[in-house]
Amino acid sequence: MRIIARLLAATLVAPLLLTAIPDGGHYWTANAEGAGLNGTKNAALYAEKSTALHAEQNAKPPVLSRVAIVIDDFGNKMKGTEEMFRLPVPITAAIMPFLVTTREDAEKAHSLGLDVIVHMPMEPNQGRRSWLGPGALVSTMTDAEVREAVEKAIDSVPHATGMNNHMGSKITADERIMRVVLTVCKERGLFFLDSRTTYKTVVPKVAAQIGVPLLHNDVFLDDVDSASHISRQLAVLKKLTTEQGDCITIGHVGASGLLTSAALRQAASSMEGIRFVRASELLPASAEEKLVLPQS
Ligand SMILES: [Zn+2]
Repeated sequence: MRIIARLLAATLVAPLLLTAIPDGGHYWTANAEGAGLNGTKNAALYAEKSTALHAEQNAKPPVLSRVAIVIDDFGNKMKGTEEMFRLPVPITAAIMPFLVTTREDAEKAHSLGLDVIVHMPMEPNQGRRSWLGPGALVSTMTDAEVREAVEKAIDSVPHATGMNNHMGSKITADERIMRVVLTVCKERGLFFLDSRTTYKTVVPKVAAQIGVPLLHNDVFLDDVDSASHISRQLAVLKKLTTEQGDCITIGHVGASGLLTSAALRQAASSMEGIRFVRASELLPASAEEKLVLPQS
């Protein structure tokens, strides 16, 4: 916040100094420090201050768009797991519950300082039941069964601070079920990241009603398993950052894991104007932070 105050001060003061001395530096206005002085002494003083201000402005980093890379489907020794953990930029590890390396992957991600989120399996409109994995939410469950499944899933992924959906085009459009899911997230202090596998998602509406911090996916990187598709999606991501600023993108370990991790490694060193962050860094500031900001 101090940095923002300094930026504001520098932005406001610099034009005042410039307009205060329109003809070679003879007069200061009342806005400038040293008001009342005149002559060449002022000019020298101005030059000194101006140089200092410019130096400060030049030293400031440019405003960067932030991108959070979320990698889904950890927890099952899938292809690309190690490569994703070795990327030179932070990722958010979305880890499926109840699988062979669920705990191991969560501990590893946490030890690397990465965000860990529960990758909650949820029934899709289409697709085989076997792709869902254990502990999945299906539309025939009662509210109590949904609650129990979500609580157990959270318990099985250590260090989880958020949740997103694995598949789930059917469930994320089901208001009854998502109300239970998001209520549990709220109780456990988790944010929810809507992977947006359906345009009919009710997550934004229900999350707002319950008061769960919400993020959403902007671009799927590897929904088609080919290097050319991934590189096209990275271009889409780059364009989106110039249009809307901060973005979230989702990739996967598994069939595309090696291709996606290689493309991300390349993007990490070549994407200019972007700062890679953990997903939780993109959560909206809390009400208290918004109140404090203008006074600092
Ligand atoms: Zn998934």
